[in-house]
Amino acid sequence: MSTRRTRQLEVIWEAVKGEMSHPTADQIYERVRKDMPHISLGTVYRNLQKLAADGKLQILTIDRTQHFDPLLEKHPHFICESCGKVYDVTLDRSDEAAPVLSPETGFTVTSHQLSLYGTCEMCS
Ligand SMILES: [Zn+2]
Ligand SMILES: [Zn+2]
Repeated sequence: MSTRRTRQLEVIWEAVKGEMSHPTADQIYERVRKDMPHISLGTVYRNLQKLAADGKLQILTIDRTQHFDPLLEKHPHFICESCGKVYDVTLDRSDEAAPVLSPETGFTVTSHQLSLYGTCEMCS
């Protein structure tokens, strides 16, 4: 890996780590461009996929758009249908959705992602 590529990955990581707003590749690109005016959206996108493959980011796909989340621990999300913002939420263990499957279906559940939809405080 060249120094330039390593530097790009670092700048992109700096832009997303500790980020709670679940930015999209476009939003991260806008941020990274301030430090690296010549970087392309494709490069940002590829580096984000690499960070996800390296286990540093989770990718949430909401309405076919990828949102990047550095909080790796499994957690539910609240998605505002008005402004599109994605929030981390904490649920009571007892409220966690459990898949109801009969053993005869032959499905193996490897993961599930709980998303709640509604209107956020700023939009309601
Ligand atoms: Zn909202
Ligand atoms: Zn999250």
